[in-house]
Amino acid sequence: MSRTGEIIREADQYSASNYGPLPVVLDRGEGCFVWDVDGRRYLDMLAAYSAVNQGHRHPGIIQALHDQASRLTLTSRAFHNDQMGPFLKLLCEVTGFDRALPMNTGAEAVETALKVARKWGYKIKGVADDQAEIIVCENNFHGRTTTIVGFSSEAQYRDGFGPFTPGFRTIPYGNVEALEAAITERTVAFLVEPVQGEGGIVIPPDGYMTRCQEICRSNSVLLLNDEIQTGLGRTGKMFCGDWDGSRGDVLIVGKALGGGVYPVSAILANDDVMRVFHPGDHGSTFGGNPLGAAVGKAALEVIVNEELPARSLELGEWFANELRSIDSPHIDHVRGRGLMIGIVIKNESGPARPFCEALMEKGILCNDTHHQVIRISPPLVITREILEETLPHIAEVTAGAGLAV
Ligand SMILES: *Cc1c(COP(=O)(O)O)cnc(C)c1O
Repeated sequence: MSRTGEIIREADQYSASNYGPLPVVLDRGEGCFVWDVDGRRYLDMLAAYSAVNQGHRHPGIIQALHDQASRLTLTSRAFHNDQMGPFLKLLCEVTGFDRALPMNTGAEAVETALKVARKWGYKIKGVADDQAEIIVCENNFHGRTTTIVGFSSEAQYRDGFGPFTPGFRTIPYGNVEALEAAITERTVAFLVEPVQGEGGIVIPPDGYMTRCQEICRSNSVLLLNDEIQTGLGRTGKMFCGDWDGSRGDVLIVGKALGGGVYPVSAILANDDVMRVFHPGDHGSTFGGNPLGAAVGKAALEVIVNEELPARSLELGEWFANELRSIDSPHIDHVRGRGLMIGIVIKNESGPARPFCEALMEKGILCNDTHHQVIRISPPLVITREILEETLPHIAEVTAGAGLAV
């Protein structure tokens, strides 16, 4: 059996079966490329769902990791460390908020946003005890905790995990009238993705986030903007909300904040919201640790200094148009913002997964999302030349005879 086969067999034997990865075993990465155990090179067109926006092993981020790992890695928040302050200062400068609360994974940051919103609702807005309601969207993805999957509309994410946390109400995505109609005096927040990532790269109507912000403001409701996937340059702006000019009242960031090397997430808010947290109200053993803070600061510096949002905008618009010009009987349409692009496969052509498998054979790694969508989200350090080389392969794989489906 090949080395790849042996490794996969071992992993399959000892791991829980909660993922169904493509049959490729990677052992090295650099920039936008990864290599398998047999030395074959692949172009990474997934970038760990946007967690590797800066590219694999970016030298500046790896340097920060090494330097910090050789000094101090974890203190807990029972003591101060010298790395968290500079990291959060830069994060506040980049995002424009007064304060940040660092966590580790995206789901933890979303949970933190839900907690701050509920507490704000009771302590500031004056909602009656245990009556707070948070509005969410159909087809959302905000993580996998029991509370979060409880308001997912994906049957599989919920199946077998109830009973669920009450206090959530679901409305259609991209529909401001539905938001207006759903708000009551108990509503404390509206949680939304400015583009739905896992939901299939779903782009709301122009001006959606601005209108949501106006509606939230005039009803004293917090807009919780989940930019864990869309943020930090992915959609061609620093934050996707910038397309409409609204970053929300609570901004949720993760994924690329850790530069592809370490889990770092955070929520950002202004004083009027963040001041509801007092010592002991919320926490995390690893949140704000010096290693994560050093990595997070370096990860942000790369995004800013290398102007990755502008690069994503330029390359993304060009590449999406190139993809649109591919003549394929299987492609329904191509949609995206910046380098967050979905190639939507027609229902009658079957699911997107076999197309991803065929692309893997051609040395291009991407994944399918929401059954019909091939997700294109390469590291933002990618070049036009490298993207250009993928076009004939994508054309071939999506051509009529290219795939038996
Ligand atoms: C990935 C993601 C999350 C969850 O992040 P984890 O680090 O996997 O917990 C939450 N919201 C959005 C929009 C995401 O894309």
